[in-house]
Amino acid sequence: MANIQVSIITIGDELLIGQTVDTNSAWMAQRLNDLGIEIKRIVSVGDIAKDIKNALDEEIAAADIVLLTGGLGPTADDITKPLLCKYFGGDMVVNEEVLNHVKHIFEVRKRPFLDRNLKQAEVPDTCQVLFNKLGTAPGMLFERNGKVIISLPGVPFEMMGIMEDEVIPYLQQNFISDALLHRSIVTAGEGESFIAERIADLETTLPLHVRLAYLPSAGIVRLRLTGRGADKQRLVKELEMYQDQISNRLENIVVSLHDLPLEHILGRTLLEKQKTIGFAESCTGGYIAHHITQVMGSANYFQGSVVCYQNEIKESLLGVKKETLDKHGAVSEQTVIEMANGARRSLKADIGLGVTGLLSPGGGEDHVPVGTVWIGVADENRTVTKEFRFHYDRPRNKDMATQIGMLMAWKFLEDKL
Ligand code: AMP
Ligand code: MG
Repeated sequence: MANIQVSIITIGDELLIGQTVDTNSAWMAQRLNDLGIEIKRIVSVGDIAKDIKNALDEEIAAADIVLLTGGLGPTADDITKPLLCKYFGGDMVVNEEVLNHVKHIFEVRKRPFLDRNLKQAEVPDTCQVLFNKLGTAPGMLFERNGKVIISLPGVPFEMMGIMEDEVIPYLQQNFISDALLHRSIVTAGEGESFIAERIADLETTLPLHVRLAYLPSAGIVRLRLTGRGADKQRLVKELEMYQDQISNRLENIVVSLHDLPLEHILGRTLLEKQKTIGFAESCTGGYIAHHITQVMGSANYFQGSVVCYQNEIKESLLGVKKETLDKHGAVSEQTVIEMANGARRSLKADIGLGVTGLLSPGGGEDHVPVGTVWIGVADENRTVTKEFRFHYDRPRNKDMATQIGMLMAWKFLEDKL
């Protein structure tokens, strides 16, 4: 069956007063889109029986599959489960497997098991239970006239767990016959519109079953080719051909043909070249170190990071000269050169990466414009520096500095800086 359509209904009073942002539907839509499943509509309603029922009537009429989240808790405000039981007919019965699981969770959490909690193991006998490893409220799957209705908890990580473990395999088995494959090209150095210009002629030759998406994020643009087809092997060849064509055209800005975060890409290159790295982080406050240590095996190349927020720390731990700081200021090219080399020496690393900047107003560096960040990379032979001006809020500026810092280190290692 091709082109099935899904509607999503998110349930909860908190969604309608803006107390909770509906992230569930966005996550589900993205995940299903990856599988080539189209979302017809996303609707949010409160914990009100009439509204939930109306939404069900409308979405079941409009789509092949309706996914619901929310309203499955044990408290009186959560009414989705009894409502579904009434809507699809049947009786509430205790599901033994769910009961044992719920009791086990209470035992582990050392909480008394109340009568109210027994209700969490009750499900309509007209549904197929979707087991919730991560919580107490099970998911439920109902069928009516060829349509499928799936109810999931509102707690995002529980919803995601049941989607991955139960719902997606079910959809793949029953509704998706074509293979859906992705190939990526990670680029850095040019904005998406420039990239689109450079590959416009190639893009127009893509067949209908191959789509190209531009996914920009801090400092990089990911290009993702998505192909759909009955013959998987043929599709792989086809996608790799387009990936080749595009990456050859964009050669000077291609960072990787694997869709990985920069910390993985940098880590791989450090391993390959057998180099170690150390950081001197002022405005990023250790955020680059956090990223690099997200990667398993980073101990093979990451020496450490000095979070040198104060000038006296830049001096005492990294050997930045007092005259440099006095004369040029903490956010300056001269300072970042000494920070990068100081990191390399004091952390006994092959490569040193230094970052210093003014992310938001205040902080005693008022002579430099807000958003100014200097990044420097050094080995024992050369030092490369760059100045940036970021215009976002503080957390986003910090993220930009972190991503671009890792990118510069990668380029330095690849002799592209
Ligand atoms: P419920 O299943 O209705 O008891 O939901 C439990 C909790 O999950 C709520 O208190 C919210 O914090 C969260 N939640 C519910 N629906 C959503 C949603 N659509 N997006 C994000 N979080 C949600
Ligand atoms: Mg609720």
